[in-house]
Amino acid sequence: MERGLDRNNIVSVHTVECWDPGKRARPVTRAQAIEALRHQVPACSKCQPDTALGIEV
Ligand SMILES: [Zn+2]
Repeated sequence: MERGLDRNNIVSVHTVECWDPGKRARPVTRAQAIEALRHQVPACSKCQPDTALGIEV
């Protein structure tokens, strides 16, 4: 699981399989990814991490 970072701002959440995670992607834990999604961090529309994590957004 990865999320794209723009300095300290989270820009989007990705799965590890995503082919377009962005230049600043950093690996995070599953729990961190879920928390980010629940705090209005947009999920990547390409790899759909919200679906992969079983979150209904
Ligand atoms: Zn993605």
